[in-house]
Amino acid sequence: CGIVGYVGPKSAERVIVEGLRRLEYRGYDSAGVALVHEGGLVGDKRAGKLTNLDKALEEHPLPESTIGIGHTRWATHGPPTDRNAHPHRGQKERVAVVHNGIIENFASLRHELEAAGHDLRSDTDTEVAAHLLEIAVAEGADLTTAMQDVCRRLRGAFTLVAVDAQDPDRVVAARRNSPLVVGVGEGENFLGSDVAAFIEHTRHALELGQDQVVTITRDAVEVTDFEGNPAQARAYEIDWDLTA
Ligand code: GLU
Repeated sequence: CGIVGYVGPKSAERVIVEGLRRLEYRGYDSAGVALVHEGGLVGDKRAGKLTNLDKALEEHPLPESTIGIGHTRWATHGPPTDRNAHPHRGQKERVAVVHNGIIENFASLRHELEAAGHDLRSDTDTEVAAHLLEIAVAEGADLTTAMQDVCRRLRGAFTLVAVDAQDPDRVVAARRNSPLVVGVGEGENFLGSDVAAFIEHTRHALELGQDQVVTITRDAVEVTDFEGNPAQARAYEIDWDLTA
């Protein structure tokens, strides 16, 4: 439902949770974050309101990190539980993913993963994407190429945003039939399901087109299609009145 991604010098946890709060108006049933820290993933996710996640993060503080992703979920596949809340992780907990929309062919992908020995830990359609991305990066692809490859296999509607614990510099996202915007900052960049996710930080936005993949690092934003060809996203300025 609501998506935030961040890479930059600030506390990723703070930027992401504040972004999720700005997206609350969309409605949701659970919330979570995943950050990259020292070659691993850290995070938390909780059913219910963002205050439940706040409380969990207060009781079990996460280590400082400057890169991560967050999500508020509106469940379509699987009940609104802690376990089904996003982000979801791959088998070895190297890749974390958040997702808006519905992956229509998740059942056959899940079957294929289970046949290959993967242990899926949620009831969501989303989790297959985490496992597939992780397989691709484990085989040596960078996360951008992995996203392009995996998206070509997915049917349905999706905004996907992912991090790889072994690549602490980039957040990668993709969209098909579901919105995705980039917030372009200075020495930091943002991803959101809408601009409310990062409006406090920047007014420069890029609207991703259909079937595009975007990679953000601190200093760059790169857009391709699902085949890996360079692509253009629409740049615009956000002129909202923040006090409204
Ligand atoms: N289909 C996914 C799920 O049920 C994502 C739902 C959403 O867009 O929040 O977990």
